[in-house]
Formats: sequence, C-alpha cells, structure tokens
Amino acid sequence: MANPISIPAQEVHKTPAFGLAATDSSGIVSPFHFSRRANGDHDITLKILYCGICHGDVHFLRNEMGHTTYPMVAGHEIVGEVIKVGRSVTKFKIGDIVGVGPICGSCRSCSNCSQGWESYCPEKIFTYSGYDYDGSRTQGGYSDKTVVDEHFAIKIPQGMPLDSAAPLLCAGITVYSPMKFHGLCQPGQHLGVVGLGGLGHVAVKFAKALEMKVTVISTSPGKKKEALERLGADVFLLSNDPQQLQEGKDTLDGIIDTVAGPHSLEPLADLLKTGGKLIIVGALFPPPELPIRPMMMGRRMIAGSAAGGMGETQEMIDLAAKHNITADIEVIPMDYVNTALDRVAKNDVKYRFVIDVANTIHKVSPDS
Ligand code: NAP
Ligand code: ZN
Repeated sequence: MANPISIPAQEVHKTPAFGLAATDSSGIVSPFHFSRRANGDHDITLKILYCGICHGDVHFLRNEMGHTTYPMVAGHEIVGEVIKVGRSVTKFKIGDIVGVGPICGSCRSCSNCSQGWESYCPEKIFTYSGYDYDGSRTQGGYSDKTVVDEHFAIKIPQGMPLDSAAPLLCAGITVYSPMKFHGLCQPGQHLGVVGLGGLGHVAVKFAKALEMKVTVISTSPGKKKEALERLGADVFLLSNDPQQLQEGKDTLDGIIDTVAGPHSLEPLADLLKTGGKLIIVGALFPPPELPIRPMMMGRRMIAGSAAGGMGETQEMIDLAAKHNITADIEVIPMDYVNTALDRVAKNDVKYRFVIDVANTIHKVSPDS
C-alpha cells in the first residue's frame, strides 16, 4: 500500500531535523529543514540542548579551506539528551545527558581505531560536512536533534554544568589529546599556549590543573590581566613584542599553538627549550614556512594534532569534572548565531559562545 503522506519509501524511517544552515560562502545561516539517517540498532537520537561555536565552524561555514558543500549546518560541541536508543545500545538509556564532538563515525577496525585514535581513521566521519553511513551529508549541532552511533557519544559527568561543558567536546579534547600524547602533562613542566581563545583558555585550565607552569603568548594586551589573575597563567608574552619574546627564549617544554590564522612559527620555536615540541592545532592556511633554524639548532620538533579519540575524550571530560574545568562562555539564543559567528571571526568573544539550542530554537523556526 502506498504511504498515505507520499514520503518516498527510503525516507520513511529517516529522522526529520531542523536547524540553521549556510547556503553559500557568506557563511550566513538561516532556517533549514533536513533529514538525518534513521536511528539504527547501535544509534542514539539526541535532543540537542547546547552547542558551542568553534572557530572551525567559521572556517567551514565561510569555505575558508575551499572544500565546504552547502547547505551546511555547523556545530560539533554538542550536549544533548537521549530521546531514542537502538535495540543494541548498551552505554546509554533514554534521558541520559551525552556529548558529541567533531567525529561521529569511523571504520572501528583500522590500526588507528584499534588504538583509540578514531580521529585519525582514514574513514572517519566528521560531525558536519562529512558523509554519513547512509551516504547522506552529516549536519552539525546548530539544530534540534541528531543521530549518532553510541560509540561516538560520551557521558557528561553528573553535576557538570551542561552549557559550559559543551566546548570541552572539541576545544577540550583538541588541547588535552596532544598534551597527553606528547607527554606535556607533568607537574613542573612549562607549557606555552599561543592564542587565548576557545581552545587556548581551556589549555591553560588543564595545564594549571596538572600543576604545570604556563606562559600565554597572545596578540591581545587586553587579555593579560585575566590570563594571569583569573586563569592562573604564570607568564604573559605579547607575540608582537620582540623584547618580551626574547625574555621567553628557551623556557618552554612544549607549546600548544591554537591561533586561528596565519602567523610566523619561528619566534615561537625559539621559546622552546632544546628538544621542545611545538604542537599546532589551529587551522593554518596558507601553511606557514617551517622554522628550520630553531628546529635544527635546538633539536626541536613541530607536530600537529586533530581532536582526539573517544576513549580519551571521556577521560578528558572526567578529568575536567574532577578539577571543575569548564569553558568560560557567553550563552546565546539561536537568533544570535550570525552575530556570534561575526564576533568569533573578529576575536571578540571571551572565550566561547554556546547556543542555548533547546530553549531558543523556536526563535528561528518559521513554524513557531
Ligand atoms: P578562537 O576562539 O577564535 O581563538 C583563536 C585565538 O587565536 C584568538 O583568541 C587569538 O588569541 C588568536 N589569534 C591570533 N591571531 C589571530 C588571527 N589572525 N585570527 C584569529 N585568531 C587569532 O578559536 P578556537 O575556537 O580556539 O580555534 C582555534 C583554531 O583551532 C581555529 O583555527 C580552529 O579551526 C582550530 N581547531 C582545530 C582543531 C583540531 O582538531 N586541530 C579543533 C578545533 C579547532 P589572542 O587574542 O590571545 O592572540
Ligand atoms: Zn571545533
């Protein structure tokens, strides 16, 4: 018998969703109805409660890396409530509060996946701007609900504030994973954090919780006071002041570079001790010149890092809960997202916007 409301057969079990999508490289988002894949046996469906705005969202929405396809819903710092579980789901039940970050799928069998490095799986699926298991485009968390394999959701620890926890799903794991992988997490070590934004301020918080010494390297003199007094950094260097950089020479065991734009690496490499590591997590395009001299003369290393695996994401958020680490946020309604994206692009946020999706999505819904 024909479906009474004439939905094509392959669409019947899909999950209808609504959000804010950009349709071109202006990056301006507007209301968008779409469908997500059906909730499979291993999947959970989330009612999205909060979603952080990462600078990566701006890069993608505005096609700054040249491979965005539209329409595109951004958002990969998602906290939601489980409203549906597939019959094989074991980790979650209806009503649980969970988080989803930048990766929502991978092959689960390659050498990277086997080591818990899902974000390096050649078949990883990005939470937005990727292709889902059913071939549809993945769309992010500026939307009412999402469907995800339970493996790619993590438990939000009891008692954690849900809005300020959301940025940990990307900003938190992106700085925590390389700190751990490169051994830059020992008490007494000296970590440099370049760029005091969404990622950077969380890196300072993790490093201080791990009893490290922290130097913030920033372009913004206005951030000095709170970096030192509120976030607990030990040293603040203005990256455009050669005198200050000279004073910081050869002092750091490692650097997490979170800058969201082109900049020179040579003055940063000079801040490292012999054998120190400069870890780049910011999206650097066009790619900068390699600082061969300070690398060679100081046996220093430059590395990159992309988000993190699911096991270490759970470990990161459990550690954050233990040390009361969340992001410093400005909570915004859905109808403020375009303004917020502009402000992120202009480095005008301290330090993360988080969209109150569930309580404000009606403000952008043409049906409400
Ligand atoms: P954000 O909140 O905008 O912070 C970036 C900070 O970089 C700014 O606060 C600013 O700090 C500094 N900055 C200096 N020069 C800049 C410039 N020309 N343009 C922009 N920022 C500049 O961004 P975020 O959300 O922390 O993300 C940082 C970067 O990491 C982005 O490129 C993002 O795409 C990337 N990212 C990568 C991963 C990954 O897996 N590797 C994951 C998430 C994000 P000061 O004012 O202190 O100088
Ligand atoms: Zn991100």
